[in-house]
Amino acid sequence: PWTWLLAGVASGLTLSAWLGMLMVRRLSPLGQLSDAVRRHQFIVAYQPIVDLATRRCIGAEALVRWKHQNRIVRPDHFIPLAEHRGLIQAITDQVFDTVLLELGEFLQRYRDLYVSINLSAPDLTSRRFLERLTPALAAAKIAPQQIRIEATERCFLDADAAKEVIQAFRDAGHPVYIDDFGTGYSSLSYLQNFQVDALKIDKSFVDTVGQDAASSSVASHIIDMALTLHVQVVAEGIEREEQACYLRTRGAQFGQGWLFSAPLTAPDFIRYVGRGLATV
Ligand code: C2E
Ligand code: CA
Ligand code: CA
Repeated sequence: PWTWLLAGVASGLTLSAWLGMLMVRRLSPLGQLSDAVRRHQFIVAYQPIVDLATRRCIGAEALVRWKHQNRIVRPDHFIPLAEHRGLIQAITDQVFDTVLLELGEFLQRYRDLYVSINLSAPDLTSRRFLERLTPALAAAKIAPQQIRIEATERCFLDADAAKEVIQAFRDAGHPVYIDDFGTGYSSLSYLQNFQVDALKIDKSFVDTVGQDAASSSVASHIIDMALTLHVQVVAEGIEREEQACYLRTRGAQFGQGWLFSAPLTAPDFIRYVGRGLATV
């Protein structure tokens, strides 16, 4: 009888330990994020990018959000975990699929418009994403230059691989942007070593425009340098008219920020572009 009792206790313990682990897994941030990936619980917001001279919308940046228990979770709260635990590539794929689903027809109709997508380090260590992009765009009859790539310096840790993959994106016709430019330790050396099409001046340098002379000139110096290297400039996080004017007169061609529009749903983005077209 003792053996039976022991066996019963042991299997009871195993079962509860297993259930406990399952609960922890489901309740842990990682468990919930894995669930979200499996269930496709991500949505995309589109923030318009405008030509600073004409104020016309020329494209949008796709910004991912996690729809979690009736709340919208911002990317800063889950992208680092996703990158760390090997979930980011699946999220990148879902963002691209959503862009195609929501704006595919629109992009096919308006050839001058583009959507830029944020990539993470693992996306730039192989051609996996590019190999997914190419046939999908061909099938949807969308030109490669209508999907652009944004990469931060954190993406360049494996510099040799990143360099090769960036070149592959460019060879395939996708313009590549360096994101958050100026915030890392080696922005300048990246600009020298990586061939890119544009850089995005980080919001922190745009914030100080018109506020304090020393730091506001950083934006201006970045623009000068970009112009010398024939790299285009997008200024991010423009909230005030004064910033837009300053950046434009200094030579930045494009801008993005609340002054023009917050990130929008796909139907609202289509309406936003339509309003601009109607006034031309
Ligand atoms: P980011 O690429 O620098 O994106 C710009 C962020 O600035 C967005 O925040 C946007 O909503 C916000 N923003 C734009 N204009 C203004 C403004 O005028 N004022 C202020 N205060 N904020 C403004 P969001 O959407 O929370 O994204 C945060 C970061 O998460 C992004 O920074 C990007 O690095 C990352 N991220 C977003 N979507 C993706 C994605 O699909 N994949 C990856 N790997 N990262 C993503
Ligand atoms: Ca970005
Ligand atoms: Ca940025």
